[in-house]
Amino acid sequence: MSGSDLPSLGERLQIVQQHVADAAVASGRVAGDITTVVVTKFQPVALIRELVAAGVRDFGESRHQEAQPKAAELDGLDLSWHFVGQLQTKKARQVAEYSTVIHSIDRESLVRALESAPGTTDCFVQVNLSDDLRRGGVAQADVEALVEHVASTPSLNLLGVMAVAPLGVHPRVAFAALRTVSERVTAVVPGASAISAGMTNDYREAILEGATHLRIGSAITGNRPDPR
Ligand SMILES: *Cc1c(COP(=O)(O)O)cnc(C)c1O
Repeated sequence: MSGSDLPSLGERLQIVQQHVADAAVASGRVAGDITTVVVTKFQPVALIRELVAAGVRDFGESRHQEAQPKAAELDGLDLSWHFVGQLQTKKARQVAEYSTVIHSIDRESLVRALESAPGTTDCFVQVNLSDDLRRGGVAQADVEALVEHVASTPSLNLLGVMAVAPLGVHPRVAFAALRTVSERVTAVVPGASAISAGMTNDYREAILEGATHLRIGSAITGNRPDPR
């Protein structure tokens, strides 16, 4: 196969942007109110540079040991780095140093670890939408307590809630549940109305349920190389 018929990186980006705009219109919203974070985990810096040339400013990474050198290498380009992966407590402060937004605040110990971080980092509280408590995210019953803790921490600015749709549940149903959690959160912290939801296979459903921040990887970047 020559590959010449396959869409290029720029074409895939445009296709996704068009789908985002269409879903925004379908949900009575404005595409400009939705931030698409391009998740570049396992992808080389050269690919990030291509996306920057195509106008992308928001990048998502999920592993500190990979994200830190990438952010350092591209420092000066004025990009926004979104940390979307599970966060180790002992790495939290370092992650806060280069991250514009941390999407994965899911436990009290992490908030405590970030209390002494310099400046203020925007963040989302990650909610577990499954019944499996080992999965990432705070249990739904514990959301208010965690949100209050974040809101009383000067080094953190709560934007809203984040979740990954669990396997085996229709994403529209999962994201409707997340919207309900979001309403509980804004009852505690009125400004924290953002919703980080939607990946390659379910971002349309997420938009229809109010997502403001999409985390899209492979639909734009193509398949990820094997983790190194
Ligand atoms: C990898 C990842 C994504 C992007 O996944 P795709 O299916 O490639 O779009 C989004 N969110 C999180 C938390 C991820 O780890």
